[in-house]
Formats: sequence, C-alpha cells, structure tokens
Amino acid sequence: MTNRSKQLFEEAVDLFPGGVNSPVRAFNSVDHDPIYMEEGKGSKIKDVDGKEYIDYVLSWGPLIVGHAHEQVLETLQEVMKKGTSFGANVEYENKLAKLLIDRVPSIEMIRMVNSGTEATMSALRLARGYTKRSKILKFEGNYHGHGDSLLIKAGSGVATLGLPDSPGVPESIAKNTITVPYNDQESVKYAFEQYGDDLAAVIVEPVSGNMGVVPPINDFLSFLRDMTNDYGSLLIFDEVMTGFRVGYNCAQGHFGVTPDLTCLGKVIGGGLPVGAYGGKREIMEMIAPAGDIYQAGTLSGNPLAMAAGYATLSQLTEASYEEMNRKADRLVEGIKKAAEENGVPLQINRAGSMLGFFFTNEEVINFETAKSSDLEWFAKYYKVMADEGIFLPPSQFEGMFLSTVHTDADIEKTIEAINKAFRQYK
Ligand code: PMP
Repeated sequence: MTNRSKQLFEEAVDLFPGGVNSPVRAFNSVDHDPIYMEEGKGSKIKDVDGKEYIDYVLSWGPLIVGHAHEQVLETLQEVMKKGTSFGANVEYENKLAKLLIDRVPSIEMIRMVNSGTEATMSALRLARGYTKRSKILKFEGNYHGHGDSLLIKAGSGVATLGLPDSPGVPESIAKNTITVPYNDQESVKYAFEQYGDDLAAVIVEPVSGNMGVVPPINDFLSFLRDMTNDYGSLLIFDEVMTGFRVGYNCAQGHFGVTPDLTCLGKVIGGGLPVGAYGGKREIMEMIAPAGDIYQAGTLSGNPLAMAAGYATLSQLTEASYEEMNRKADRLVEGIKKAAEENGVPLQINRAGSMLGFFFTNEEVINFETAKSSDLEWFAKYYKVMADEGIFLPPSQFEGMFLSTVHTDADIEKTIEAINKAFRQYK
C-alpha cells in the first residue's frame, strides 16, 4: 500500500468499524490494503499518493459517463448556487421522473428515495400492502441492500465476508423470506406450490451482479413473470445495478419482460445518493399521501441528486450502449485469449457493460457455481492488476463496469495487464 493510504487507513480503523463505511471497501477478500482515492477524471481515478488507475469500479456502477463529467459538474454547479436542499418540490424531480418513466417500460409513476436499500425496502412494503400478503421470495446470491427482509442468503459484501444471515435480523422477519437458487425454475415452482398464496412478491436482480455477474438463463425472467401472474404475486425487478447499465431501457427493456415494480439507484443519481422505486400507477397510488402505505424522506428528491441524475441519463443514447458493448466485447476477447495462452480456467459472464470473470471451468449460473471460482488466485490476480494501474472491485463476487469514456487504449492497457497477471498463474 502507498504511504498516505496507509496512514489514513490506520487512522480510520479507530474511527469506523473495520475502517470503512461500507464493507467491500475493506479489501479483505483480496488481502490488499484499502486504497484512498482522491480524484477522478473520465475513466481514470487517482489515489492519495498520486498513482493513477483505469477505473472499472466507477463508484460501484453509478459513473456510467465517467468521473467528473463536464456536463454533470456544470449542472451541479448551477443548481448548487441556488442552494442544496429545500425540503419542498423542485423542478428537477419532474425532469428526472419524466425521463425515467419514458425509458423504463414498467414505470408509470415513481417515488424518489436516497439509496438502493431504501428503494427495495419500500418496494417490499408496497408489495405487501398491495397484496395483503407477508412472504417474499428472493434468490441466493442476489443482494438487495441491507434491509432486514432482504439480508438473507444475500450476495455482495455478505457473500464476500461469508455472512449468509446477519446477526440482528430477527427470526420473525427472516421466516417470511423464502430463498431459492437463482436460475432454478424447479425450486421456484416448488416454493410457489408451498407458499404461493402467501407470497406478496418475487424480488430478483434481472442480471445478478452481486455474486459476480450472472445473467438469467432459459427465459428465467419470463418464467418468473408467468409464475407471479398465476399466483397473484408481484414481480419486482431490482434494477439498482442493471438500470441504465444493461441497456438503454434497463434490463427489462433488454429482456422484454415487464415487472410490476422496479427499484433503481446507482446510475440514476449520476454519483450522488439516489434511489427510486416505481411501477404500475394503480399500485404506486397506494403510497402516502395518495394512499395509506407510508414512506417518506427528508432529502428525497434532493435537487443536486436529481440534477446529477438528469445530466447523466439525458446524455445516454442507444449508440452509447452499442459503443460500450463493443468495448466490453474487445475486453472479453482479450481476456479469453490471455486465459487460453496461460492455461487459466476462466468463465466470463457479460450483460451490457457489466462483466464478471470467474476462475473456474464450471459454467456460472448461480451462487453455488460462482463459489467454485479460485479465490486465492483471484487475490493474486487482483494485486498484479492494482500494481499495473487497473482498479477492479476488490472481490470475486462483484462485477466490473465500463463507462462511455473508457477508450480503446484503456482496454488495450487492461488486456496487457491481464496478460501479465495470467503469466503468474501456478
Ligand atoms: N440492489 C442491488 C442490486 C445492488 O447492487 C445494491 C448495491 N450494490 C443495492 C440494491 C443497495 O443499494 P445501496 O447500496 O444504494 O443501498
């Protein structure tokens, strides 16, 4: 670790549990010390010791147009001059909402919140209130934030740290969450046969990004649509990660399956704290004050966050996605070749500009198979990549992201670094 990062982290371990404000930032699973970042521009990020990296973390997804994008910064500066928060309606809320309703097939009406966690917690309350049922079905290795009902067999930091169920989640709540393996239609059928009449909702990451990247197979999403329709449960797509990442119209547009409710976050805030949930008007109108299902937020719809989200999303076009896909393909091709040449076992999953590499010969279709990846080798690979100036999520169970401003030169440099890392295999 570099000097300034080391000093800051030594201070931080006394200030924050584990020295961080969110678990995966601790770099525990790659046995690497945390790197303190100071500034970013485009596809690059610089640490406090001045080392520059090509960034594939992108603040865990939000920065789809790269760091410090001029249009985003200018918009923010303009809005900020007039104040930072009013606790009253602002025009930018309408602007962002109209754009989201226009682009996301399932959303007719929306509610802004401040994080992905808030979005999923609120969507569940709404689903339970609407259906008057209490149970929910989720998938092993899918992460939906840290709400009590959802922190059960979750992915992301929970997978990395090996905490399938967090202490502190009451049994009385956990018993209402049914979990089954991702992409496993038989298990879903069985769960519906057992609990179908009590299931308020199925919540799913339409492409899972929290056990590494695992796309749906064999029309899994339309199967879930049919099952939920048959049993009168709601289908909730947690598109906090996939929203505006997998495609111009989110994962639901890409796969042509329309859920009842959608949760958003990350990209829609352009790097500021935002979440949102939306869906059919008839359901959304049950939320207070239109209806009696309560949910509120002091800073919800904050003008800066709304403006950053709008400035980000309004510059994305269908062509932006084609271009990101082209670069993602190039990266996949390069890493495949490097793996073949060096005898590295490798599975690559990709959905749009979300990529997941697993060091295993098994096809990765769920959490069980994701866990077959060689984690010791991942940690070694991670170190070489960091030394070579490539910033990756410090966990096997997270995806990497591309932005509209990653260049072909960035991709080539990354492939070179991958070759260097893979040459050290075994
Ligand atoms: N859902 C998904 C699919 C996510 O990936 C995440 C965060 N990585 C969340 C929910 C929670 O979002 P937040 O961290 O903003 O609370």
